[in-house]
Amino acid sequence: MHPLLLCVAPSKTLRDPQRRARYDRILTQRELRSVVTLQDEIDLDEMHAEEEPQGGGKVYTYVCRCGDVYALNPDDDELCELEAVVVPCSSCSNHILVRLHRQPPGVD
Ligand SMILES: [Zn+2]
Repeated sequence: MHPLLLCVAPSKTLRDPQRRARYDRILTQRELRSVVTLQDEIDLDEMHAEEEPQGGGKVYTYVCRCGDVYALNPDDDELCELEAVVVPCSSCSNHILVRLHRQPPGVD
């Protein structure tokens, strides 16, 4: 398992409510990874990327074993702050881990 890397410093973050909420979200992702069974681990560029028609940014999808899709619509903050995200399937209880950044060689 790869550790989640945070690009914000906790001590400074916790004083600011908005950033605190964001930090909590990162912690939630970390907790999720310890309680769900991940069906797969993929890189973001393995997902199918589509532009939202209304200018809502990119949506990434990946086909689940059940035939439905995992859908990820990351905002810029998530792409900056999260090393990886856990994405639930739209229909079943499966989850996948999507690595948002490539692992530098030799880290494993
Ligand atoms: Zn599914």
